[in-house]
Amino acid sequence: MIKQALGSARDVWSGVLDLIYPPCCLVCGKAGDEYLCADCLEKVDTIGPRHCSKCGMPDDGMVCRDCREREYAFDSACSAGTFDGVLQTAIHKFKYRNHIVLADPLGDLLYRCFADAHLTGKVDVVIPVPIHKSRMVERGFNQAIELAKRFCKRTSLPLNTGILIKHRNTPHQVNLRQEIRLTNVRDAFTVVNVENVSGKRVLLVDDVFTTGSTLHEAAKALKAAGASQVHAYTLARSL
Ligand SMILES: [Zn+2]
Ligand SMILES: [Zn+2]
Repeated sequence: MIKQALGSARDVWSGVLDLIYPPCCLVCGKAGDEYLCADCLEKVDTIGPRHCSKCGMPDDGMVCRDCREREYAFDSACSAGTFDGVLQTAIHKFKYRNHIVLADPLGDLLYRCFADAHLTGKVDVVIPVPIHKSRMVERGFNQAIELAKRFCKRTSLPLNTGILIKHRNTPHQVNLRQEIRLTNVRDAFTVVNVENVSGKRVLLVDDVFTTGSTLHEAAKALKAAGASQVHAYTLARSL
């Protein structure tokens, strides 16, 4: 009840703000009624259906060279677009500049590209990659949860944010060398509601796939808790 009232108050407040400061595209600055304009969205380099099934790297549809020697705990990975240009700028503004309004257009993009993940009808629950509670306090929101909320609204897939937690805080992956990234996040995740994941096909949602270390560790925890499948799906793929 309180949550609903707060939600309505927030909607009214955001309507008032829109009247005072009409939305403009946060990437190109064009005035209009969108925070991410159609011209910018058009420039996003989407990956499409042909990509490495293990890591989502744009490819000819086969397992890429890197993945032939690498094992991940997740069963497949796919990303909506490549992490460059408009998408990179939009994600930075969303995540580090607190432009939470970008969650809607970016979540919509995630939804529109979902068919390319070849997982339609094969997901029981959507779980966003959690951040540690101290990072939550610092940022005020978890970008993966915000993207997943919009994605689930569009797909009608069930969202569960109470299954997986990040119990150990870790330095930002972005500042670390590739070989350090895996040890940085090792065993950082725990499943707290095992009964909600046992036997389920999980879609693990995050903003960016870089080395796959975070998604691997999160998937490892979910598999240990009995998830039958874990598929990683991110907004962007770092090349
Ligand atoms: Zn724009
Ligand atoms: Zn690959």
